[in-house]
Amino acid sequence: MAGCELCETDGGELLYRHPKFRVVRVAGPDGEAFTGFCRVVWNEHVKEMTDLGAEDRAVFMNAVYRVESALRLSLNPDKMNLASLGNMTPHLHWHVIPRFNGDIAFPKPVWAVSLPAGGGNAVPGSAVGTFKENSVTRQEWENAILRAFSTD
Ligand SMILES: [Zn+2]
Repeated sequence: MAGCELCETDGGELLYRHPKFRVVRVAGPDGEAFTGFCRVVWNEHVKEMTDLGAEDRAVFMNAVYRVESALRLSLNPDKMNLASLGNMTPHLHWHVIPRFNGDIAFPKPVWAVSLPAGGGNAVPGSAVGTFKENSVTRQEWENAILRAFSTD
């Protein structure tokens, strides 16, 4: 659909593409501030979960759960946040966000804080210095996601 960001772009850095959905790493300030922040995007332009048939809903949610499991295993977050909003972009996508007690928005939703332009200094825990996901590289958690889909 013309003018839809998620029809015209992947919506982030592509990690995995399935015929029906894709998994992307959130780029830009949000991705810098929140380690492991991913989205699972349905490929077709569909607005609501209840516009999908039951089988497609299961495929979609199973993908969300696989991403959640991979992020839990690799990053050991304090909490996972799953969110499907789509008010700005009415094209089905789930946000899958590892949360850490000490990240810059915790315990509020990630959208509750405005990030500095560029996001360079928004790395969570930088002021605290004890942030436990710092020892996990981006390559490690991205590989965990790829492994989660390696049997497809
Ligand atoms: Zn779209």
